[in-house]
Amino acid sequence: MKKIVLASKNSDKVKEIRLVLKNLQVEILSLADFDNLPDAVEDGSTFEENAIIKAKFFREQTGLACLADDSGLEVDALGGLPGVHSARFAGYHADDKTNNQKLLDELKKIDVTESAADYRCALAFVDTDGTEILTEGRIDGKIKTVAQGSGGFGYDPYFYIDDERTMAQLSVDEKNLISHRGAAVREMVLKFKEKFS
Ligand code: IMP
Repeated sequence: MKKIVLASKNSDKVKEIRLVLKNLQVEILSLADFDNLPDAVEDGSTFEENAIIKAKFFREQTGLACLADDSGLEVDALGGLPGVHSARFAGYHADDKTNNQKLLDELKKIDVTESAADYRCALAFVDTDGTEILTEGRIDGKIKTVAQGSGGFGYDPYFYIDDERTMAQLSVDEKNLISHRGAAVREMVLKFKEKFS
């Protein structure tokens, strides 16, 4: 059976992707199955570049085909920031709380309480023979400076969808159905079905 390493140590992400791919002839491993792997240097200027950088890096490190994602928030009023800097918007040791505070601070500086925004996800697969597959997903919404909800993660309490709920007010299944990551994964599954069934 084809082995694929998912470039993540996040056990929720790994579980979710294993479930989606369960009917295909593939075995999904994660970075947690390997000892002492270095971190990839994600210095690309787009989500796509970073996903490919990560997938190629861990393909080389493990010798196995690799699937890697890169995602983030783009806020129109901030010229697309935090973008590829979403995970570390508030600095090297940033977490969701400090990143959200930085987002509010940046909006306050320009006197904005609401802005069009989107989440984007790029998913890259690099096979052992070097073949690359790239899929993408995106969801448009609004950032408002009032938080609502306690689900999701990251910027979700401030990201409003069309019905005026935030992503943090959706169940995991509801979020997967409309999210940037859900869309990128579903498109990759279609491509995998052609390749690995
Ligand atoms: P990653 O590439 O999936 O690790 O995501 C990078 C960063 O983008 C995360 O640390 C979050 O700050 C942000 N982000 C990505 N996807 C989401 C989402 O679905 N909700 C909230 N924040 C997200």
